[in-house]
Amino acid sequence: MGKLTCPFCNSQNTFNIAYGYLGEKKTKKNYINQEDIGLNESYRKGFEKYDFDGERLMSHLPNRYCKNCKNTFQSRKVMYTVDISIINFIICINNNYYRYILDFSDKENPKYSLRINWVSIKENESLTIKNKNKILSSFKEYKPNIWNGHYGKNYDYDEYYWILKCTYYNGACYVKSGNDKVPDNWRHFIKPFKEIFASNIFDLKS
Ligand SMILES: [Zn+2]
Repeated sequence: MGKLTCPFCNSQNTFNIAYGYLGEKKTKKNYINQEDIGLNESYRKGFEKYDFDGERLMSHLPNRYCKNCKNTFQSRKVMYTVDISIINFIICINNNYYRYILDFSDKENPKYSLRINWVSIKENESLTIKNKNKILSSFKEYKPNIWNGHYGKNYDYDEYYWILKCTYYNGACYVKSGNDKVPDNWRHFIKPFKEIFASNIFDLKS
């Protein structure tokens, strides 16, 4: 396995964390002991995590440690909406190409950019936390992560196409797309986008 990149600082100086119960792994290469990075024995029991809306989540222990910035992270776990870092939402309709980039990598200062036909219209504009949470609520409720990979014809479109790419803090991501076709719950999913960006380009119908 190659070196994993740290989601905080992009360094590749990362190591697996060996917890007490993984004692036999301590001798293996690329492992770092729990105690050596300041995680005490009780850490294992006390680990909890909350979603953006305060819901308590089942979580997993971080399994990687970055020697560069000294953060711990999880490389394999099931990701939650609170872990969404970047959303790219592309819609091409009436021969215009719109690309919204929502940047939640700084949780306290969400931002967005908009390009129309590759020209920057908005660059790192602030989004309110409330609006960020509205968007995350939509991801939580309408689950684009379990949509089909693609809707409609494969290589061709008449009216529009769309692409949604969602990237998590650990670098994991998924991409969904459609040509002249949207998932059944699209109309609900796009509601916050429509409201926040006051745009009707999201109103796509199959
Ligand atoms: Zn780092």
